Amino acid sequence: MAGRNFLFVPGPTNVPDRVLRAMHRAMEDHRSSDFPSLAAPVLEDLKKIFKTSSGQAFIFPASGTGAWEASLSNTLSPGDRVLAARFGMFSHLWIDMAQRLGLDVQGIDADWGEGAPIERYQEALEADKGQRIKAVLFTHNETATGVTSDVAGMRRVLNATRHPALLMVDGVSSIASIDFRMDEWGVDLAVTGSQKGLMLPAGLGIVCASQKALEYYEQAKLPRVFFDFGDMRKANATGYFPYTPSLPMLYGLRESIAILLEEGLDNVFARHHRLAEGTRRAVKAWGLELCARAPKWYSDTVTAILVPPGVNGAEVIDVAYRRYNLALGAGLARMAGKLFRIGHLGDLNELMLLGALAGSEMAMRDVGIEIDLGSGIRAAEEYWQSTAAPLPKRDLPPRAAEAQAPSPAAKKATAGAAR
Ligand code: PLP
Repeated sequence: MAGRNFLFVPGPTNVPDRVLRAMHRAMEDHRSSDFPSLAAPVLEDLKKIFKTSSGQAFIFPASGTGAWEASLSNTLSPGDRVLAARFGMFSHLWIDMAQRLGLDVQGIDADWGEGAPIERYQEALEADKGQRIKAVLFTHNETATGVTSDVAGMRRVLNATRHPALLMVDGVSSIASIDFRMDEWGVDLAVTGSQKGLMLPAGLGIVCASQKALEYYEQAKLPRVFFDFGDMRKANATGYFPYTPSLPMLYGLRESIAILLEEGLDNVFARHHRLAEGTRRAVKAWGLELCARAPKWYSDTVTAILVPPGVNGAEVIDVAYRRYNLALGAGLARMAGKLFRIGHLGDLNELMLLGALAGSEMAMRDVGIEIDLGSGIRAAEEYWQSTAAPLPKRDLPPRAAEAQAPSPAAKKATAGAAR
């Protein structure tokens, strides 16, 4: 199909040209004396993205799922109890992994579309007099339903109940796009992947561990080999990896961190918020509902849009893809067919997002949803225009026509030559 593909799934996200160019390298020896000058600063700078100075960053050749496994297997022992809420496909999958690893999961089921139920975590922690719960699993941004939960609130509950459990946070679709503060919020294990806010291809599973988590490592008995923090720490301490790292991904990560820090993390978060809010205005103008039940849970990285009863959300996605070259996110597990998702994270601006909103409007109309064409686009544009930052004053260069106009002397000379 002619023209570009509009990639609006909530990961993988668009990879900026700068990152693609940085990744375009001939392979090198990962045991050379030069290698540590690439790896060591990347590991250090990554901590700025997680907002931790006391934590330690780990980069595994994996994806977010591998980072989940690393966080569990390096800090816990078979039969350890973990407390976790299930309120969407990804929080469900993390629980499933914990069970399959032999952990004793105390689950809290919440409605899909709601955020993590902090009060129910609190009740469970208060009832845990013997402090059997060793870790709390908390999904910061549930990508399947487009809800963001309150990590700081979860930390307050752990403090208020004086509970020593580790706080493990899935930040796969929040870190580097939505405000995340590992040290300030007392997060012990923060998990992400490379293909979302970090604007890279999939291929890295990234974990940051607090000093407390590293102490738990010493006692933890779950089997681990590939994801062993100990092997990784030993190799990283000298600037190397315990096995062959992905060179292009490390070069790409170095570039993506540079891009994020140049923009400034607060500006990155503000941009994501503006883009998300414009999207939500569009949904409202279409007369549709979000899957997220309350504004306090609205996600700034992904909007999940419920389709009217009788319509299959998968059809909207299929038409958008085949007719307009637009990739939208599907409804997952029990939300299959009930919604479609627009991912608005990573390397993105208003005009790119308008492409997705326009394609969504047309695809929805194509499958029979009554949409007033242009209504969503107008609502988003109005919001973005009314909230745009004032442009700094700039002296304009002379207009092209003036600059190219012949001088009076040149005009005279040409007139003379013609005679
Ligand atoms: N957690 C969340 C919140 C996610 O959105 C995803 C993937 O989209 C994952 C975990 C799993 O990550 P990956 O697909 O990189 O293994």
